[in-house]
Amino acid sequence: MASKKPAPDVRYDVTIVGGGLAGLTAAIGLAEHGFSVAVIDMVPVRDLTAASYDGRASALAYASCQLFEALGIWPHMEPYAQPILEIRVSDGPSLLHLHFDNETLGDGPLGHMVENRHTRLALFARIEEMEGIALYLPEKVATLDRSAAEATVTLESGQVIRSSLILGVDGRNSVVRKHADLATSRIDYKQHGIVCSVSHEFSHCGIAHERFLPSGPFAILPLTGNRSSLVWTEKSHLTDTIMALSDRAFESEVRRRIGDFLGDVKVIGGRWAYPLSLQYTQEYVADRLALVGDAAHGIHPISGQGLNLGLKDVAALLDVLVEARKVGLDIGARSVLDRYGQWRTTDNASVYAITDGFNRLFSNDIGPVKLARDLGMAAVNEVTPLKNFFMSHARGTVGELPKLLRGESLRS
Ligand SMILES: Cc1cc2nc3c(=O)[nH]c(=O)nc-3n(C[C@H](O)[C@H](O)[C@H](O)COP(=O)(O)OP(=O)(O)OC[C@H]3O[C@@H](n4cnc5c(N)ncnc54)[C@H](O)[C@@H]3O)c2cc1C
Repeated sequence: MASKKPAPDVRYDVTIVGGGLAGLTAAIGLAEHGFSVAVIDMVPVRDLTAASYDGRASALAYASCQLFEALGIWPHMEPYAQPILEIRVSDGPSLLHLHFDNETLGDGPLGHMVENRHTRLALFARIEEMEGIALYLPEKVATLDRSAAEATVTLESGQVIRSSLILGVDGRNSVVRKHADLATSRIDYKQHGIVCSVSHEFSHCGIAHERFLPSGPFAILPLTGNRSSLVWTEKSHLTDTIMALSDRAFESEVRRRIGDFLGDVKVIGGRWAYPLSLQYTQEYVADRLALVGDAAHGIHPISGQGLNLGLKDVAALLDVLVEARKVGLDIGARSVLDRYGQWRTTDNASVYAITDGFNRLFSNDIGPVKLARDLGMAAVNEVTPLKNFFMSHARGTVGELPKLLRGESLRS
């Protein structure tokens, strides 16, 4: 796919540093609402969309799927999307477990599983259909500068890009966040998420399983066909050894953890290991600058919420910027961006806390803790309002929802 490169002196409304899943969605959302956008990423399109780039699949909450639908991305993803009909959470071999199913809330699946590679391909396919997005891939940021009038990004190639607003959507090691000197808190979990896909003999029936093992959660997540994506949380000091296992030995460890309910299981494709931490900034905005997605907050994958939070950021930012432009405000003004910053820091903070608490509670095998959590799970299973609260979290419908996630248009 060819990069769309503009003339050197063109100015954009918004410059997005980071063309990951959140950055590209933001670009599409902005262009769809009449903003001109430049997207910079250091990785070329052919690598971003290669099967070997990112082995993860994401559990996309119902609310995130609404956003993809509203922005015309969903038709490109739908053939690769596996509806999640049930979630079963169990504590190792304990018979006490939590069970969520889509029929309880009666409003379609809890979400969909889509391989990140297919989501990226869908985003690029949507960009090809649109006007207003200039892609600078692969390019690296050399310097960033902000003045009262504009923000300027200079690339290592010498290209200068001017705009009213810079979005830092450049992941956990965000250069935009460092440039703005926004303080970041970080807790290293000393765990890695080992990721691979498996094919299996029997159908998964659209059920996602999360099992809590002493080293951390082990998730078996349904993909299209008789395939599942695994996220195996392991202590970091054991990760290198596991990643170095022969294919046969690795497959046998995977089979041991899954058990026999899916019949014969085979590992397909590669394996990846991601270091796990909780990382967040208190402030998402500065003059002419806003952080979105993992650049602002990276959480443990235990609840499958990281990307979903980033997509909510995108939808909230669109709400704020479209509204500001309608009334003639400068989209880079601090007073405009503060509305986004306050909205999202408040909304996201509860998810950091819940996710962090869950990981601490479930990543150990201390007797009394194990008993307390088993009883807690049994209690949640029996108390309908509590269960519905957790399901609404899984569906991404908790908190102040941006218009596009409520199925409303920003044009009215
Ligand atoms: C094992 C695992 C499983 C997960 N499962 C789920 C799940 O089921 N559901 C869910 O919602 N979330 C999940 N997550 C979280 C999710 O993957 C992340 O939250 C999401 O990928 C973050 O997207 P992003 O676009 O914000 O950042 P990133 O994906 O990190 O993208 C950042 C982009 O910026 C580019 N970049 C970085 N620095 C620069 C620079 N200096 N110049 C130019 N470009 C730059 C990078 O190349 C990259 O393309 C999971 C995470 C892990 C580790």
